[in-house]
Amino acid sequence: MNTLLKKIKFNQFENFPELIHGISPRYFKNDQEGIEEFNFRDCDGSGKTKDHSKIFLESLGIANRRPVVVDQVHSDKVFILENADRTHNEIVQVQADALLTNLVGKAIGVFTADCLPILIYDPRLKVIGAIHAGRKGSEQNILFKVVREMVSVYGSCPEELMVGFGPAIGGCCYEVGADCLQPFQTQFKDAKDWFRPGSSGKYYLDLLAINKMDAERAGLMQGNMFSLDHCTCCSSPQMFSYRREGKTGRILTTIMLRP
Ligand SMILES: [Zn+2]
Repeated sequence: MNTLLKKIKFNQFENFPELIHGISPRYFKNDQEGIEEFNFRDCDGSGKTKDHSKIFLESLGIANRRPVVVDQVHSDKVFILENADRTHNEIVQVQADALLTNLVGKAIGVFTADCLPILIYDPRLKVIGAIHAGRKGSEQNILFKVVREMVSVYGSCPEELMVGFGPAIGGCCYEVGADCLQPFQTQFKDAKDWFRPGSSGKYYLDLLAINKMDAERAGLMQGNMFSLDHCTCCSSPQMFSYRREGKTGRILTTIMLRP
């Protein structure tokens, strides 16, 4: 039996028995008691590598399932999974950076390694979402657009939605050029806590703060937002970090409505 070395979850989502969710750590213990690093490449089921996404879902108590993922392209596109018959291989071709569904038994997920993974839940209508929010996606207000879709497609009320922000590169480490600030400056004119000056004309950007502002603007309540406040770059070598390591693995953040 494969076991995770560290379980990463949002306590607030654990209060809903109909939900199963989790964020993959870097390592797991394999059947031979060896420590192995997660490698989710070819998670579309093409069978080129061993399917570690299955191992991760098994650790969450969901055997024989793979998460539905899309082709993430740093966009603001939202994919709505409505048809339970669509195959993983079909969906992984869809270019998008967020998934929504109200289908039970369908795990949806996003991959990140410094970008911000977000899970969103409508407890009244039982709609789940997984979002990949990097700088580009945040710039295009992907979270705001997900909420807008939830309202128009499912009839969600923003003030009822719960949102969990996963591990991402923090404002402590995410240094960017001044040009990267501009798109946010026009959007959040009065807000100041989402960036601070760095070295030689650069700035530290706080993706979490930006997305919290975006969530508030979309009508979510502060009390329904929670975050792990965990910087992938400096908090722990237990997480993959693109900024720290360059070529590296991915964190899988997944959510499912229990069948
Ligand atoms: Zn940091």
